[in-house]
Amino acid sequence: MFTINNYVIAESLEQAYELNQNRRNVILGGNLWLKMSRKAINKAIDLSTLGLNNIEETDDEFKIGCMCTLRDLEIHEKLNSYFDGVISKSVNNIVGVQLRNGATIGGTIFSRFGFSDVLTALLTLDTYVELYKGGIIPLSDFVDMPLDNDILVNIIIKKDNRKVSYLSHRMSSSDLPVLTCAVSNINNEWNVVIGARPMKAKLTKLKSSSNLTEDEINNFVKNINDSVKYGSNFRGSKEYRQILAEVFIKRNIQTIVNV
Ligand SMILES: Cc1cc2nc3c(=O)[nH]c(=O)nc-3n(C[C@H](O)[C@H](O)[C@H](O)COP(=O)(O)OP(=O)(O)OC[C@H]3O[C@@H](n4cnc5c(N)ncnc54)[C@H](O)[C@@H]3O)c2cc1C
Repeated sequence: MFTINNYVIAESLEQAYELNQNRRNVILGGNLWLKMSRKAINKAIDLSTLGLNNIEETDDEFKIGCMCTLRDLEIHEKLNSYFDGVISKSVNNIVGVQLRNGATIGGTIFSRFGFSDVLTALLTLDTYVELYKGGIIPLSDFVDMPLDNDILVNIIIKKDNRKVSYLSHRMSSSDLPVLTCAVSNINNEWNVVIGARPMKAKLTKLKSSSNLTEDEINNFVKNINDSVKYGSNFRGSKEYRQILAEVFIKRNIQTIVNV
């Protein structure tokens, strides 16, 4: 069981950042993952009064505050009118509405979980994270950075007309996924992301025309799958994941090509 000595409602991001530099203090997201740990927390820092629970849309991008819940993302009509609704599709298998009403996008992406459905989907889009001290950086760079004491303030997704498809497999509903796979295509660029390998989601970029033939798709799938590493855990073996990935990459590409 985790314990919290003091609870602080942050009055500014600067105050939250300063407090978070002490290793015994933590930022609270929805507190769903944290509360399963055995941490002895000195100060729990709550960001919920800083206005970071909005999804803003401009001509070029969506800006999603770190305190938005997964449910906010799942049901946001404008956000899901882009990218073939991939955000909603990647979220709606995560446990149930009750959990998704609490889990935040900040806690989800900052943690860079190896099993993350959402990380898989966002990596296939043109996505950036805005860190309080670290500034705005591509999610594809952030995913490989070590965990530190910065604060994830916003997620930024650039609006473009890419086509996207997402698939995941669970041994039973509401369990963590055995494998996640997202593919997007824009002009001659293909982005293939495999997650829950069971390591962190990995993005592979390939240049190829949008109208792939059956033979080209098979070659494409083989090239990607050969370059991605898989592992085993109690949810599935490395070999099983490799077979699933081959099928999911192919189905995702076929969905995009046939749209
Ligand atoms: C039972 C259960 C099942 C789940 N199943 C799935 C699943 O199938 N697929 C899936 O993708 N996910 C799954 N998740 C993960 C879930 O979707 C969230 O990603 C997770 O709960 C973290 O979000 P949170 O808001 O609860 O973060 P918290 O638990 O509050 O925080 C997690 C970590 O992030 C830090 N943090 C939080 N917000 C910020 C911020 N803005 N800046 C910097 N650091 C921050 C915290 O200090 C903490 O270290 C599951 C979670 C649970 C509890």
